[in-house]
Amino acid sequence: MKKVNKIYINGEFVTPHGTETFDLINPSNNIKIGEVTLADETDTRNAVTAAKEAFKTFSKTSISERIQYLERLKNAMQKREKDLIDVMIEEYGGTRQFVTLSSKHTGSWFDSMIEVLRNFEFERNINSSIVKLQPVGVVAIITPWNASNSSISSKVATAIAAGCTVVIKPSEMSSLQTQILMEAFHEADLPKGVVNFVTGLGNIVGTELTNNPDIVKISFTGSTAVGKLIAKNAVDTMKRVTLELGGKSPNIILEDTDLEKAIPIAVYGAYMNSGQACIAPTRLLVPENKIDEVNAIAKSVAEKIIVGLPENEETNVGPMVSVKQFERVQSYIKLGLEEGATLLAGGIGKPEGLEAGNFVKATIFTNVRNDMRIAQEEIFGPVLSIIPYKNEEEAIQIANDTPYGLAAYVSSTDENHALRVGSQIDAGRVCINGFSHDPMVPFGGFKHSGIGREYGAYGLQAYLEPKAILK
Ligand code: NAD
Repeated sequence: MKKVNKIYINGEFVTPHGTETFDLINPSNNIKIGEVTLADETDTRNAVTAAKEAFKTFSKTSISERIQYLERLKNAMQKREKDLIDVMIEEYGGTRQFVTLSSKHTGSWFDSMIEVLRNFEFERNINSSIVKLQPVGVVAIITPWNASNSSISSKVATAIAAGCTVVIKPSEMSSLQTQILMEAFHEADLPKGVVNFVTGLGNIVGTELTNNPDIVKISFTGSTAVGKLIAKNAVDTMKRVTLELGGKSPNIILEDTDLEKAIPIAVYGAYMNSGQACIAPTRLLVPENKIDEVNAIAKSVAEKIIVGLPENEETNVGPMVSVKQFERVQSYIKLGLEEGATLLAGGIGKPEGLEAGNFVKATIFTNVRNDMRIAQEEIFGPVLSIIPYKNEEEAIQIANDTPYGLAAYVSSTDENHALRVGSQIDAGRVCINGFSHDPMVPFGGFKHSGIGREYGAYGLQAYLEPKAILK
């Protein structure tokens, strides 16, 4: 049994005041694997005090010092890559395929900020005035279970680059990862109080951070519902907020697309992180005259998808993170049938032999109308909706017709054609012909997918406060 019973404040591992614990359950078999001691408001306030004190000197560090800290963090994190992969598989059921790939990006969060720092102007002249960009202050970082490591790494890298200090509240469901992150960050030997971790529940630690007057900014990644709550509460103390929220991303297959190539990418993409990914292309928009051809390819791909134990190399789709999430996905599959969508693959129930865990069949609905709830709401499981469109204009209209605007995908053999269509979609990120990772380009959502941007120079800007000095 693993125990996470320390938090990290002011450069030291300390015992939280809270005595309650939260069970960590392996989603592949629903057996308890550990427990985390939950921190309380006092612990949170102590962490904020430490970060506030550290800010006084850390905000004045030179660019070269910050680059050194980023290098040290990167090295410390990379040393723990294997440990992180192992616990991600065990703790939230991330497939070996997915967590190995996402872990490879860890270094890029630190490298990209180093690159940004080398070229960034913290002071600019406008006419006869000077504009200085100074660190905002103490930042609260609140993160979800499905992207704990990458979310925390990218946010901390940006905060350090800006000269901010942080209090991190990871999801209680990713506490084994938190344990490793705390150890790695400790090894990086940053000045005391620059990085603090408080493990705890959203309504206790998260609420305290949202209300605490010494927190100047919140960088949140998680659900749209919680993001809205945080934004509402944060306004009382006039905090700056960056919100990375949910998505229901369209994937437009244009008339001239090579279907044999694009449809398998689309199906595997929808099942990234077992469908538990904010940027997953969950709405596949196809020309109505190609729907039969697309259905046939998509069905044959889904039948090859391996749903199984996440530790196995060949597994494409692992379990849902919790019983609650499993039931939520099941209820959406039921809803899709009730709404009149055609089930093409998968369906209700667990795949044979996997009854002990939270496994969902790789599911595809076709002939989905965009006004159905399965097309409008974030399901967060391996459920893809195929939606036919009459012409390009309608494809763009359908793509934009959801409350979300995080990511979008467009496929075509003619890149310029795809670019023309992509530029008309209201999303913070549009990928042409597949998926790519670039930590230098901004990431964030339009509409209910969030506020603000992360990554690269745009991300750094969000941790800085401009001050104009007029002469
Ligand atoms: P969640 O919103 O339930 O929780 C996220 C974090 O907020 C957790 O640490 C949680 O403890 C905390 N929290 C909960 N209630 C709070 C409160 N009242 N005040 C302050 N903090 C509170 O999300 P989740 O289930 O952990 O993650 C899945 C969601 O995250 C999905 O909707 C997904 O789309 C989204 N997500 C978005 C991105 C992105 O970059 N846009 C990336 C990953 C995940």
